[in-house]
Amino acid sequence: MGARTGSQFLEGLRKAKREIWVDGERIEDVTAHPKLRGAAESLAAQFDRQHAYAAECLFAHPESGEPTNVSHMIPRSPDDLRRRHAGLVRMSEGPMGIMGRTPDYMNMKFAAFASAPKVWAGADGRNERGARNIVNFQRRLSQADISLTHTIIQPTIDKRIDSQVVGNKVTIRKVGETADGIIVRGARVLATLAPFADEQAVYPGQPIPGEATQYAVAFAIPLDTPGLKFLCRDSASAPGADPFDKPLSSRFDEQDAFCIFDNVLVPWDRVFIDGDVQIYNSMRETGYAINMTTQSTIRALTKLEFTYGLATRMAELIGDVSPATTEMLGEFACYVRLTANALELSLEQAWERADGVWFPNGAVLEPMRSMLAVWMPRVAEIITLIGSHNLLTTPSRAELDDPALRPLIDEMLHGADGATADERAAVFRLAWDLVGSTLGGRGFLYERFYLTSAARNKQMLHMRFFDRTRSQSLLKDMLSRPC
Ligand SMILES: Cc1cc2nc3c(=O)[nH]c(=O)nc-3n(C[C@H](O)[C@H](O)[C@H](O)COP(=O)(O)OP(=O)(O)OC[C@H]3O[C@@H](n4cnc5c(N)ncnc54)[C@H](O)[C@@H]3O)c2cc1C
Repeated sequence: MGARTGSQFLEGLRKAKREIWVDGERIEDVTAHPKLRGAAESLAAQFDRQHAYAAECLFAHPESGEPTNVSHMIPRSPDDLRRRHAGLVRMSEGPMGIMGRTPDYMNMKFAAFASAPKVWAGADGRNERGARNIVNFQRRLSQADISLTHTIIQPTIDKRIDSQVVGNKVTIRKVGETADGIIVRGARVLATLAPFADEQAVYPGQPIPGEATQYAVAFAIPLDTPGLKFLCRDSASAPGADPFDKPLSSRFDEQDAFCIFDNVLVPWDRVFIDGDVQIYNSMRETGYAINMTTQSTIRALTKLEFTYGLATRMAELIGDVSPATTEMLGEFACYVRLTANALELSLEQAWERADGVWFPNGAVLEPMRSMLAVWMPRVAEIITLIGSHNLLTTPSRAELDDPALRPLIDEMLHGADGATADERAAVFRLAWDLVGSTLGGRGFLYERFYLTSAARNKQMLHMRFFDRTRSQSLLKDMLSRPC
């Protein structure tokens, strides 16, 4: 099939009868329900977008030759990387980086997974079947243009013992096996995009102890698989709201769901790992983390660029040229520039794996996982500080359209330098929806945690990933100088 259109995507969601709960209600049709429709339409627009920008967003699938989203590409040259990069930038501009889980996020991970069947098979080939399954699944993912969600984190019950894994009666584990496949039971957090996904993937997040074989499972199954249930968080959408009033909430609530596997049968051809902890703990070797960080940094850059434009216009609309605001905008610009620099350098320092697959320089991007989790809340704070009460003095669409109120609003709620009341209200409503709405609160939580916490990322960078050779040699040089 190749790249789908928006209407094909929506049709797929309508067909599969999945168990999605939102605010206590089981949702029959996620494309029509007022709390989900806005995001469904925005995601459908992403599918249409790939066709509208086909030259950047699509490439010929190496097997089928069909036009396929670039996020499925397994790059074989620096040019491939640049081409994929341009497509990912274009895709991120649809929701302005506000939706973290447009399907390209998962597509990138599975492209890396499928690029490294030897990692899945194990050095002695003991998991050949799992390796074959992942390659076949990625072929289907890319050729049928499936929307995929995932859960890789175990739920928190008791932080003192959760990390021991063995004996955990909550997190997902294998509880049985039949001629048709494995039976899994338990839960995982937190399936972002669940109502708008066709399939659900489970694969390694954090490493697990060697004896935790029951917990070493990886697979992907359709969302309508019996026993699979999704408890979504409270809706952050704005059912029935005019998009002028709630420009982001009405469009971009991609949802997050607690995922329950109530004795779910995973067919053998969908099982990627079945009990092999050593393989389970070796997934970083596939390069998936580099692909994930690439997509998420590109998405973050678009959001930073967009919100920098927003913050700048807010200041202009109220004639705020104070040193404090100018400095904060300069700080904002630093985050934009540094993120752009990291992405560009990662491409300039791209590298070729022994099997001919190309990756951006992951070491360059690694710090972004820690820093963006801190910068994003800071830019929300900057927008709040620039906005102050103006975030709340924003007439609604209905008030602006009221013939009696309109002349008064024009007289008393316009912007500086002749800016109209419409523009002032539109800009400050957008800002408040970004930082002050329920969706804004969820966005804060997302940016802080979706790639694990900044604290954990910093620790891992220092302990595992950072090359300290030069720092150590500089220190040695200094200490060896004659006193
Ligand atoms: C909006 C949202 C969407 C998400 N979507 C998905 C999804 O689609 N799929 C999925 O699998 N997961 C998803 N997640 C889960 C996400 O991966 C986890 O929230 C993340 O890994 C952090 O784990 P945690 O929530 O258990 O918090 P923790 O890691 O326990 O962190 C909680 C607090 O403890 C601190 N902390 C933890 N460990 C350390 C440490 N070693 N040193 C110092 N401080 C520490 C942190 O700084 C933080 O303040 C999502 C989360 C959110 C909030």
